[in-house]
Amino acid sequence: MKRRELLRGAKLASKIPMYWAFRRYGRPVLPPLAMSFVVTDKCNSLCKTCNIGRRYLDDPTVADGELSLDEYATLAKSIGPLEWVTFSGGEPFMRKDFADVVVAVAEGTRPRVINVPTNATLVRATVAGVAAILERLGPTRLVVNVSLDGVGEDHDEVRGFRGNFASATKTVQELRRLSDPRLVVGVNTVISRFNADRAGAIFDYVQGELRPDSHVVELAQIRPEYHNQGDRIASDPALARAAIDAFSARARSAERSGVPRWVKAFRAEYYQDVKQELAQARGHRCFSAFATCSLMPHGEVWSNTQRADVLGNVRDFSLDFRALWQGEGADAARQRIRSELCHCETSNVAYSNALMSPRVLSRVVGRWVLGA
Ligand code: SF4
Repeated sequence: MKRRELLRGAKLASKIPMYWAFRRYGRPVLPPLAMSFVVTDKCNSLCKTCNIGRRYLDDPTVADGELSLDEYATLAKSIGPLEWVTFSGGEPFMRKDFADVVVAVAEGTRPRVINVPTNATLVRATVAGVAAILERLGPTRLVVNVSLDGVGEDHDEVRGFRGNFASATKTVQELRRLSDPRLVVGVNTVISRFNADRAGAIFDYVQGELRPDSHVVELAQIRPEYHNQGDRIASDPALARAAIDAFSARARSAERSGVPRWVKAFRAEYYQDVKQELAQARGHRCFSAFATCSLMPHGEVWSNTQRADVLGNVRDFSLDFRALWQGEGADAARQRIRSELCHCETSNVAYSNALMSPRVLSRVVGRWVLGA
């Protein structure tokens, strides 16, 4: 690890006890370390695990009145520095000004890492958008995660979009041709009841043939963000556990570049935790609304996209994020979160919770040192 990375890691670690105090006593009120920006409700896929695309198809006006580029630029200045940022949707590249939004937020928040998941249906717009972001991004690392939930027609079936497997593989190839050292071209696979029995074949294809810089796996989740409450999407727990084991065994040897060892250590611990929750749900002390939050397309700030406690709407605070973060709505959400154990396994939330847990963090450090 480079000296600069070590210093930044040490600075981040020094803030952790203050976040413990913030969660326990409500003081000092600290800014978030990481945020998700859900930039649009537009989507052109009809995935079996998510209803965002179906909802948009039924009523395109759901995407009217989303935060504008100017609003993002104003807001970002009031957020302050963030460690890592995720931009998602819907399909983020369906926003014509998506590259400008990313650059405006990055200028205001100066994150170390930006993560963008995409359904990779719009190859030209996606590759041009990524190139435009990189042109103006500065030293921030940009991770673009292409969704791949099956091989060949299986993928198109799960994602409800004919030709998506071809466009996804093409997107990976074209992004890699950009050859930018700040760009990590990744693949994201969601394991659900629609593909868990073929998980091994997906991993073999991604890691053996497509060979992206990074491959991550999540279990299909019920989230208010996805409008899928009541849907039956989870795979049989035994199949899900087997899939995670199969994935972990392959991932150890397959990942090639762009994934620092400390990220691998966090991921390995995340997968163990997901398995543990499948076997026996214990729950976590959640730091959403303390160390992380999600900004939704129309300005609502949520604790995260799974719990979905509403802290307020930035438009009601004249786009002053800090005023919202210190307001009564945020306080009320924190009181609820403080009194519960959470069971969400959203990966970026899980990483923040791991960072804040001495028990988990010590295991992560052990993995980092041993390279395990
Ligand atoms: S998972 Fe992504 S691509 Fe699929 S419908 Fe939801 S937002 Fe669209």
